[in-house]
Amino acid sequence: MSSTLDYPAMLQVALDEARQGLAEGGIPIGAALFNRAGVLLGAGHNRRVQEGDPSVHAETDAFRKAGRQRTYKDTIMVTTLAPCWYCSGLIRQFGIGAVVVGESATFSGGIDWLRECGVEVIDMNSADCARLLTDYIHRHPEVWHEDIGED
Ligand SMILES: [Zn+2]
Repeated sequence: MSSTLDYPAMLQVALDEARQGLAEGGIPIGAALFNRAGVLLGAGHNRRVQEGDPSVHAETDAFRKAGRQRTYKDTIMVTTLAPCWYCSGLIRQFGIGAVVVGESATFSGGIDWLRECGVEVIDMNSADCARLLTDYIHRHPEVWHEDIGED
């Protein structure tokens, strides 16, 4: 991946989406899809609570907002949290070349599997991302467990 990309600035776009989700009363997870030139293609956030739609994860929202792309191998999915199995599947299905995760301490999702599949995974170990989500989980554990498909 190009060393000229500003990962903290890219992560900030996803973090702003996560905070917007929280302001809407939703789960604070945000994502943004960029190309390798650093151009933003689409951004979104988890809207499970807002829309009553369990399929609207941050990554799927950003993916849909980006519209049709001829190829995904030169795109980078930036997300505030390690992608779940569902979103890791999306990354694999469309051949997204790299993933920048804000943090993977709260939830590691499918990042080990993505690495095994040859996807470049960059973990930013962001305290801001971790704090935003862990505060939410502390207040709404049932919504969080529903989101990741655990009883
Ligand atoms: Zn997901």
